[in-house]
Amino acid sequence: MTEMARGFSNVALAGRLGAGIEFGGRVYTGHAMSCIFCKIVAGEIPSTAVYQDELSYAFADISPKSPVHVLIVPREHIASLDEADKDKRALLGHLLWVAAEIARQKGLTKGYRVVVNTGEHGGQTVDHLHLHLLGGRAHTWPPG
Ligand code: AMP
Ligand code: ZN
Repeated sequence: MTEMARGFSNVALAGRLGAGIEFGGRVYTGHAMSCIFCKIVAGEIPSTAVYQDELSYAFADISPKSPVHVLIVPREHIASLDEADKDKRALLGHLLWVAAEIARQKGLTKGYRVVVNTGEHGGQTVDHLHLHLLGGRAHTWPPG
């Protein structure tokens, strides 16, 4: 069993006990077990990294809807845009900047689209705030 796998089995135990656990310099709580994007951020589920910094992680969407389809997530668990409190304003701005930075790095000079599906009517399927960066083709409006 790898060090990572050992660590996360401890996370699972801690989650069942309702506690957090420190592993690799970070404290994991129940979210790290139950949320797929928390697991991706933690490295428990593999992903193709595109960009990362102390606040955010960006990775390739597993089911791309455009030639460039990158997901940008905060490292901390925030369920949706609607769940982002006032003290998250700087983080929200940072995530938008990351989207623009990745678009520049990928040479999306003709433009791109940034989408934040929120809640049931927004079509959100993963309950960890994420920005979709879509590029490499023209996108129509309105969306479906
Ligand atoms: P949304 O419908 O806005 O919540 O977007 C969720 C996105 O997550 C979808 O575009 C999925 O293709 C993507 N997704 C789900 N699981 C994974 C994964 N393991 N790795 C990368 N992308 C994923
Ligand atoms: Zn999460």
